[in-house]
Amino acid sequence: MVQWPHRLEDTTVLDLNEEPRRSPLRLLLGLFALGLMAIAGAAAFDLTPDPVRSRLGFTPPPTATLSPLAATAQAQAALAEASAELPEPTDTPTPTPPREDHYWLERPIAPSGTNWVDYSYSYGSRGDGSLRVHRGVEFVNPAGTPIMASAAGTVVFAGDDGVEVSGARPNYYGLVVIVELERRLDDQPVYVLYGHMSEIAVAPGDRVDVGETIGYVGMTGIALGPHLHLEVRVGRNDFAATANPELWLKPFAGKGTVAGLIVSSDGSPVPEVDLEVRRAEQPNITVRALTSYPELEVRPDPAWGENFCFGDLDSGRWFLVATRSGYVMTMPFTVEVGRTNWVTMPVPW
Ligand SMILES: [Zn+2]
Repeated sequence: MVQWPHRLEDTTVLDLNEEPRRSPLRLLLGLFALGLMAIAGAAAFDLTPDPVRSRLGFTPPPTATLSPLAATAQAQAALAEASAELPEPTDTPTPTPPREDHYWLERPIAPSGTNWVDYSYSYGSRGDGSLRVHRGVEFVNPAGTPIMASAAGTVVFAGDDGVEVSGARPNYYGLVVIVELERRLDDQPVYVLYGHMSEIAVAPGDRVDVGETIGYVGMTGIALGPHLHLEVRVGRNDFAATANPELWLKPFAGKGTVAGLIVSSDGSPVPEVDLEVRRAEQPNITVRALTSYPELEVRPDPAWGENFCFGDLDSGRWFLVATRSGYVMTMPFTVEVGRTNWVTMPVPW
């Protein structure tokens, strides 16, 4: 659905020439952008429009590298140039909450198939904008591809969700298997749901081992094409109790996860901010993009409390880029292999 990588130039910008939508703040942004044009060549990326900031009542913490820019049509060029000059990420450690990873899940598809998640419809996102907020992740594979249990547990449901609802409504996930894992998170049960199967290979009450075939990829229920929908539920077996599977799937060799919080100046999570990750050595190429979680529809992970997560990133230095209403903010971070790397990014929205 979404083509990655794309260049920064493709991103939507405010049109300051559109008279009815002009506001004093946007005029201010426009003036700032013109000033930026004049100095962008010499200045580093960390330009901060103090008048705008003070209007927004925003004071960044000293550790953050924040770079709000007004992305008018004129400022796009400046932004692209500034992008190419993103500062070298420093080794300043980002605070990591005292939490442990719970990479309990193996890939549910064999390596001969597609065993990475479909990044165009990440957990908590709306895909191309038209889809329902996603409560799981997709593994896009041909119909009939074997689906393997991601972890050991007991089958608590195996059947047609037209008979027993497991999604938003009847006939949502089609032929479904739900496994309650042997392990529990802080004494809470953890469930893994496998949806849209063409055929089910287990029955309720069966104990399954990791790697055991439990069914086959299909497109039963609501599915645009054959794929496996994998969902993690914590605390109870309920559509409203999902967690981001990318915090549960063991990263591939040489890769790690970044998760964190996009927060406002008062510390509350900011929903549906456009986020991108870029390698430090290729700062104007978007490697992947998604949005921070919407306010009500998905929960943060009980162990992490994040509102965004990118799984399976190469180790090394990266930039997180947040965009809203023409503002672009960046923050450097480092991905260490095999763990969840935490980032807190304050934004003025
Ligand atoms: Zn899905």
